[in-house]
Formats: sequence, structure tokens, C-alpha cells
Amino acid sequence: MFGPPGAGIGTQAEVLRDRYGIAHLSTGDMLRAAVAADTDLGREAKVIMDRGDLVPDDVICGVVAERIDQPDCANGFILDGFPRTLGHAEHLDQMLKEKGKQVDRVVQIKVPDGVLVDRIKKRIAETGGSRSDDSVETLTNRLAVYHEQTAPVLPYYASKGVLMEIDGQASIDEVSKSIFANLEQAS
Ligand code: AMP
Repeated sequence: MFGPPGAGIGTQAEVLRDRYGIAHLSTGDMLRAAVAADTDLGREAKVIMDRGDLVPDDVICGVVAERIDQPDCANGFILDGFPRTLGHAEHLDQMLKEKGKQVDRVVQIKVPDGVLVDRIKKRIAETGGSRSDDSVETLTNRLAVYHEQTAPVLPYYASKGVLMEIDGQASIDEVSKSIFANLEQAS
């Protein structure tokens, strides 16, 4: 699942998990769990996450490698928040190849930056900023990081013929329906 921060990829990943009965792997959730548990990883990640930067490649690739070895991933899984750089994507291909697996589909949810900033401002107003990376400054940096480091991964998957683009400026239900239609048409 691909998309800028606030595009709703976590929400849509959960919908897909329920529909297809496969595991949902959110690297952001894994890191937030490590922060909450105050592990070494969590302490290293917190400062970086609060700035909206990316945790180092070897750290995140290690977390994912360990997670996809769990039994609930045997029948496939949905990645949310990873890969986030071209290096991650190449590393992921290697990890999957060793298991006789591959990335079958990449769902890109498209939402313009201006809409995302409005969404996060609304969320902060409603929740008082429930996450420590919920601030306009952090979001602005997260968006910059997305455009600089993550968006370049899209052509990589487009060239493999697995990329599908979805308009994220509709209701949650409508976006889900559009993803299902695309996935089920493509399979
Ligand atoms: P997310 O919930 O996916 O937006 O992730 C929240 C934060 O966790 C990001 O802003 C990054 O600091 C960090 N993070 C999550 N996934 C990754 C990843 N694949 N690579 C590097 N940092 C990540």
C-alpha cells in the first residue's frame, strides 16, 4: 500500500485484511509498539519518527524480515508503510525471492498535499494530536520525505506492471470499492 501520510493507507489496508483474510503489516505500527514498550529499537526510532524522518534502512529491513517469517504471513500479507525507499524495494524483492514470493500488486492512493494538510489539521483539532508525530511541522517534513524518497519507488513497480493508481479523494467506502474493483479485475 502506497500513499503520502494521511492518505488513508492504514485504513484501507485494514479493510483489505478483513476482505482477503491476510496479515496487515504496518511498519509504523510496529515502530510505535516498540516506542510504547521502550525497547532499544523504540528509543532509537522515537526521535526520528517525531521529526518525520525515516529510520535507517538496516533497522527497518530487519524488522520486516523478522515479521514476514511469522506463520500468519504464510498465505501472503499486505505491506503498509514499507518499502519507503528504492533501497527497501530492492531489499524486499530479494527477501521475497528467497521465499519464492513476490510483490503481486502495489496500490497507490493518490491525494494532493493540500488536502492532506487540511486532513491532519482536522485530526489534530479533533484529537489534540494523539500521536507525537501529529503536528503540522512533522507532517510537512513527512510529505517532503514522501516526495523525495518514497515516490521514486512507484516507477520501479510501474515498470514491473504491478502498480495500480487509486483516487483517494472520496469516502473510505468508495476508495475501498475502487481498490477491490481494480484488484479483482487485475487478478
Ligand atoms: P507511518 O505510520 O507508516 O506513517 O510511519 C510513522 C513513522 O515511522 C514514519 O514517519 C517513519 O519515521 C517511521 N517509519 C515507518 N515505516 C518506515 C519505513 N519503512 N522506513 C523508515 N521509517 C519508517
